[in-house]
Amino acid sequence: MGKCIGIDLGTTFSVVAKVDSNGKAQIIKNRYGSTTTPSVIAFLDDEILIGEDAKEMQASGHEDIACFFKRNMGEDEFQMNFNNVDYNSEKLSSILLKQLKEDAETYLQDKVDKAVITVPAYFNNKQRQATIKAGEMAGLKVLKIINEPTAAALAYGVTGRGVNKNILVYDLGGGTFDVTIANIENNNIRVLGTDGDHRLGGKDWDDRLASYLSDKFLEQYDIDLLEDIDTFNELLVKCEKAKKELTAREQTKVVINYKGNRGNYEITRAKFKEITSDLLGRTELLIDNLLNDISLSWNDIDEVLLIGGSTRMKMVHDFIEKLTGKMALSGVNVDEAVALGAAIQAKIEEEPEETFALPGYKSISDVTAHSLGMVSISEDFSKYINTKIINKNSTIPSSEKKPFKFRTRRNGSNELEVYVLQGESNLPLECSILGKYVISGMDHINNGETVIDITYNYDSNSVVEVTAIQRENNKKLNVRVESVPEDMEWLGLEPVRETKVQNDIVICIDLSGSMNGTALNNAKIAAKRFINDMDLEYTNISLIGFADRVGVFTSLSSNERNLNNKVDLLSENSNLGYGTSAEPFSKAMDELNESNGNKFIIVLTDGEWFNKQDAINKAKECANHDIEIIALGFGSADKTFLNSIATSDEQSLFTDVTALETSFSKIAQAITENTGGNLIIK
Ligand code: ADP
Ligand code: MG
Repeated sequence: MGKCIGIDLGTTFSVVAKVDSNGKAQIIKNRYGSTTTPSVIAFLDDEILIGEDAKEMQASGHEDIACFFKRNMGEDEFQMNFNNVDYNSEKLSSILLKQLKEDAETYLQDKVDKAVITVPAYFNNKQRQATIKAGEMAGLKVLKIINEPTAAALAYGVTGRGVNKNILVYDLGGGTFDVTIANIENNNIRVLGTDGDHRLGGKDWDDRLASYLSDKFLEQYDIDLLEDIDTFNELLVKCEKAKKELTAREQTKVVINYKGNRGNYEITRAKFKEITSDLLGRTELLIDNLLNDISLSWNDIDEVLLIGGSTRMKMVHDFIEKLTGKMALSGVNVDEAVALGAAIQAKIEEEPEETFALPGYKSISDVTAHSLGMVSISEDFSKYINTKIINKNSTIPSSEKKPFKFRTRRNGSNELEVYVLQGESNLPLECSILGKYVISGMDHINNGETVIDITYNYDSNSVVEVTAIQRENNKKLNVRVESVPEDMEWLGLEPVRETKVQNDIVICIDLSGSMNGTALNNAKIAAKRFINDMDLEYTNISLIGFADRVGVFTSLSSNERNLNNKVDLLSENSNLGYGTSAEPFSKAMDELNESNGNKFIIVLTDGEWFNKQDAINKAKECANHDIEIIALGFGSADKTFLNSIATSDEQSLFTDVTALETSFSKIAQAITENTGGNLIIK
C-alpha cells in the first residue's frame, strides 16, 4: 500500500508535504530540490516539460505553454490544443499532479497513491469534482478535498501555541482573495465562515502599477502603450518584479522603452500604496460582511494568519495592524502553510486514531462557501427564482430534505426534473447551474398521487449529492445528472404557465345483449386504458351504460380508483334491458350540464339502435351545447348512423372488437393533444 501526501495545487505554484515519523508535517522537495513547483506545462514536439523546466521555456519565449489553468477548473468550454491534442484544465492538472506524485515517490523512496488536495474555499461543485478527477487521472486516490485557508488553519493549529481563540485567515494569492474565520479550541478547529472574491489578487496590483506608469508615459510622450499588446505585457512583467522589490525595499525603478522613447520611473512604497489602496479596501469590505454574517466583530478576532504570495506586500501587514491593532502571525511561511495543512489532513485520513493522539492534532469542521438551491417559480408566477435549500456557511456535511408532490401515470415516463443551483443570487442565471437532476423510477401507487422526498446534500468535500425517495413505499429512486442544456436563457424570461384545460368526458358503453362476453370484456379493458391515459389532474370522467334504459355508473369524477371500480360494475346484468331502444345523450348532457371545460361524449356500440332519429336529434342538441361526440362502432354497428351522431366524420370511427383498447387510447391522445377545433383521431 502506498503513502498519502498533501498537495497544494496552486494557480502559480504547487507544493507537496507529508507528515514524518515524528508527527511533524514536512515539505517534500521536488526533483530539483525546490520546495515549490511552478504550475506550468510546456509542450514540445516530442516531450512535455513540467514545473521549473516549463517555466524556463516560457521565459525563453516558447509558445506552447499552459499556465494559470487552475482558473478554468471545471469549465466545460475551456480547451487548449497542443500538438493536435485537446486539453482541458482537469487534464492539465492531472499532468502536473502526476509529476508531483513521482517527485514525492523519489523523495520518500516509497510508492504514493493517495492524496489530500487543497482548493480555494470558493471553489464550487464543478471545480471540486474536476479537482478530484484530475487527482484520479494522475493515479491518486483523493481521500479528501480541503479548503486552502482551512488547511492553513490546521497547520497553524497543530504548531501554534494557545487554545480557544478565533483566527482570521487572510489569503491573497495571484488572482484570488479568500477570508476565513475559524475558532480553535482544544481538539477542534471549527470554521465559522468564509467569503472571498476570486477576481481580486496580486495581478490587480500589477495591473494598477502598469496603468499608472503607462499614463505617465502617455503624458510624457503622447504615446499609448496599450496600442501594442506585447509592449504592455512586458510592462506587466516589469511591474510584478517592481512590486516584489517593493516588498524588500522602500523604492524601485521601472524603465519603459518604446518606439525610441525612454521613460525612467521611480516608485516608492508610499506611491504604490496610494494607487492601490482601494484594492485592500475591497478585502476589508468582504471581511466586514463576513464578520457581520457570523455575528462577530473585529474585537473577537484574536489572531490573523496571512497566506498567499501577495500577503508579502508590506501594505498588507500595515493594513492588518491598523484593523486589529495587532501584528499578523509571524513565522508562518505563506507558501508552505497550505501544503503542510494538507499533509496533516492526509495523516488524519490515513490513521485517524493514531494521529489524534499526537500533541497538537485537531479535527476540523468546515463550512460551505455557496448556498445550494433549485430553480422554482415565484409565487406571483412572474419569474424563475433560486430557492435556497442549504445556506452558505453551513457546516459540512450538510443535508436538507424537501418534499415534492408528484403525479405518476401508469404508462408514463414518470420523470421529475430539478435544476440545482449554487450561488447567492435570487436569479437563477446569476448562479452556477450544477445540472439537470432527473429523478425516475417512481411506482404508480396511491392513484398516482405521490410525494417525492428529495435530499440535497453537501458531503465533507463540499461536493453536491442529490438523492430521492418515494415516500409512500420508501423506494429509493434513480437520480441521473444531465449536463445543462446550452440555452438556459428561458430562466430569465417569464415562466410559461402550463395552461392545461379541463376536459369533462362522458363514456357511454352499449350494454345490450350483443355485447356479452368478449366485447364487453374488451370494452372494460379499453375504458380502463382510457382512464389511465388521461391526466386526471385535468380530466373528469363520467361512465354511463345504455341498452333499453340508461344507467349512470358514475358522475364526473377524477378519482382513478372510483372510476376503475365503476368500470368493473359494467355488466350485462345491469338491469338495463336486452335491446338498444334508449339513447345515452340526454343523460350525458345532464352530466355535462355544469361543466366549464371541454366537453366530450364517447359512445361505444356494436349494433343497430331502435330509435335512431331520436338519438340523432339529441346528438344535434349536444352540438348546440358545445359537446363533441366521438362515436366508436364495431361488430354490426351502422356506419352511416355513427356518422350522423358524431360531431364530424373524423370523430366517427369503425373498429374491431380486438382493437377497442387501441382505439380508446388514440381517442385519449387526441383529446390530450387537442388545441381547439375538431378533434383529429389518428
Ligand atoms: P496562487 O495561490 O494564486 O497561485 P500565490 O499564493 O503563489 O498565488 O501568490 C502569487 C502572487 O503573489 C503573485 O501575484 C505574486 O506576484 C505575488 N508575490 C509573490 N512574491 C511576492 C513578494 N515578495 N512581494 C509581493 N508579491 C509577491
Ligand atoms: Mg495559493
